[in-house]
Amino acid sequence: MENVVIIGAGAAGYTAAIYTARARLNPLMISGPIPGGQLTQTTDVENFPGFADGVLGFDLMEEMRKQASRFDCRTTSAVVESVSFQPGGPHVLKLDNGDEIETRSVIIGTGAIPRWLGLESEEKLKNKGVSSCATCDGAFFRDVPICVIGGGDSAMEEATFLTKFASKVIIVHRRDQFRASKIMVERALENPKIEVSWNSVPVEFLDIEQDRVTGLSVRDVNTGDLKTIECGAIFVAIGHIPSTQAFEGQIKLDEDGYIVVDDGGVRTNITGVFAAGDCVDRVYRQAITAAGMGCQAAIDAERWLESIA
Ligand code: NAP
Repeated sequence: MENVVIIGAGAAGYTAAIYTARARLNPLMISGPIPGGQLTQTTDVENFPGFADGVLGFDLMEEMRKQASRFDCRTTSAVVESVSFQPGGPHVLKLDNGDEIETRSVIIGTGAIPRWLGLESEEKLKNKGVSSCATCDGAFFRDVPICVIGGGDSAMEEATFLTKFASKVIIVHRRDQFRASKIMVERALENPKIEVSWNSVPVEFLDIEQDRVTGLSVRDVNTGDLKTIECGAIFVAIGHIPSTQAFEGQIKLDEDGYIVVDDGGVRTNITGVFAAGDCVDRVYRQAITAAGMGCQAAIDAERWLESIA
């Protein structure tokens, strides 16, 4: 029987691994086939404290991986296919390699994936002007027009944030009304740098041939007309999908699939099961906040294990 199994190898998972390994809990991490999480998909990370000159997302995760293994965290690259959680444990995890693992406690740090439109040109221009994280990448696009796609709180927040850098921000929304909360909409629309392209469905991200973003082609849903919005970057803010499918029916999830935890904490509704990072957090979604929650989960797991020893 394991003491603690950490599911997911992003900022939350690695931080939980470092803390539980240093607490001599002999953790086992189930990393999935591509460890590192969303940060491995970005380029420069300039807002993770401790790196005055910035750090590549991939390198940051590699350092976290090495730090966890230095304290003898064991890792398997399998994927958790299903779980059976009992309040108080033991908890059983079924892996895609056929293994079944029994454990006293679990820390879930499976993250979330940004929702993308699915256009070929969007995919080809990712990290070349197409991003899903204004906080991460906004500062790279100064004094150029920037498009933000979406009509929810994320789009409002990203658009408002991006006005710090952009010459103007154009919110591209497929309807004539925003889904976002009134206060976020007011804040965005009051900003003189923000314009809205209503009833606009993105058709193509331009320009694959130039290998950088030069504009966004959109179709008017009412007239069918096409127009090109010139811009130097496109931020897609149409929501995230938490990676929690394996836990459905075993743990409390909200209507969008995020894991429900106690207020400000990391405890799920199942005793001995903790959750941290973007699979829980729909508001902050930063590497540093995920790492902080991973630390909280590790300390809570340690206390829980002490209580049943
Ligand atoms: P969301 O509320 O689901 O909004 C997604 C937006 O993207 C919607 O306007 C939707 O259009 C649009 N969209 C979805 N699929 C699309 C597609 N294929 N093509 C074009 N547009 C598409 O997602 P979110 O804005 O990320 O917010 C998620 C949750 O986090 C919400 O509960 C939100 O309140 C919360 N949040 C809170 C804060 C904050 O409080 N600071 C910040 C960010 C997020 P339709 O409107 O037409 O469906």
